[in-house]
Amino acid sequence: MDEFGVNSIEDDKEFALEILSNLIEIKALSPDNGGDGEIDKAEYILGLLDFADEIERFDAEDGRVKKGIRPNIVARIKGKRRRTLWIVCHMDVVPEGDLKLWESDPFRARVADDRVYGRGAEDNGQAIVSAILAGKFLSEQKPGLSFGVIFASDEETGSRYGIQHLLKEKKFSKDDLFLVPDTGSPDGSLIEIAEKNILWLKIQIFGKQGHASRPDMFYNANRRAMKIILELDEILHKKFNARNNLFEPPYSTFEPTKREKNVDNPNTIPGLDVSYFDCRVLPSYSNDEVIEFVRKFLDEKQKEDGFESRMDVVQNVSSPPTPENSEIVVRLKKILKALRGIEARPIGIGGNTCASFFRKAGYQTAVWSTLDGKAHEPNEYAKLSNIVEDAKVFALLALNP
Ligand SMILES: [Zn+2]
Repeated sequence: MDEFGVNSIEDDKEFALEILSNLIEIKALSPDNGGDGEIDKAEYILGLLDFADEIERFDAEDGRVKKGIRPNIVARIKGKRRRTLWIVCHMDVVPEGDLKLWESDPFRARVADDRVYGRGAEDNGQAIVSAILAGKFLSEQKPGLSFGVIFASDEETGSRYGIQHLLKEKKFSKDDLFLVPDTGSPDGSLIEIAEKNILWLKIQIFGKQGHASRPDMFYNANRRAMKIILELDEILHKKFNARNNLFEPPYSTFEPTKREKNVDNPNTIPGLDVSYFDCRVLPSYSNDEVIEFVRKFLDEKQKEDGFESRMDVVQNVSSPPTPENSEIVVRLKKILKALRGIEARPIGIGGNTCASFFRKAGYQTAVWSTLDGKAHEPNEYAKLSNIVEDAKVFALLALNP
């Protein structure tokens, strides 16, 4: 199918390789990951946006990085209508991790056939390049919808200086469509429309510290915590046991994860134990229900033995799913069927993308791209063919209103 001539985007494969290689070489690490921010990458990207009709900046101040700003760029091509299809990309990358596991310099592009290796090649360089190819193509058309690209900072460390800042400053229209190409599948057949709620709980269990030979005089917080945490683990699973096959796994998960170190020596009874739960809760429940349930349970334990415990909420993210029959999802499915002959299906994930901020703000948002899923791994790569083919999909979404 090439009724709109999108196949001509294939001619830009060399250009795509050049941009992706440059993006990989401009390290953009958040200061939380020991880096200098995204400004160099943003300036490089700005130089590529001559196809855009409008460019806006929504920089967030951050004294820890070069030039003191975390840049957020919004570029737009005017279509027949003001209504806009937005492609949301992020410029920051995660650190390389263990360098010994890399077969080449993570911050120098290495090309092997269709693959381009380097940190950030897939996450999220691929999306940046596809969006630029689509934008360049659309600027020579008059698309039905306007076409916008958001290049955000700070996605990997919470989006406070990125999407969250942008959503405070920039007014989008409620009938705009949003596509976040930040997770996907090798054939592009999965459209992410929902994310489980994320809830991290820090649980402090108190006892009374003293010599290990006198448990008759002291109260072991370690033993108390093991019992309480195991019981809590069990009753959370029982209480919040709904299933939803959109997700994998199709139920809420509650994992006791981090445990802080307690005493330094084996012969002291610990007086405090600090554990954490990572909860991924199906959106049919609210995080508040879970918090309330845990609080009540801990209160009961306190009544039983008179010792205290304390719960703190460390992370609390939730967003409503994007309906399966929403326009962005329906349109994407139609294009994938016509262009690739595949029946794409909606899914939910337990992870978290910046789509959650858009969904929370009331915008229809799909997360989709074609990739092998190498984000954050050593020897991360992106495929040039995926970059070109996804660019066609982006273009068709705007062309075909
Ligand atoms: Zn990403």
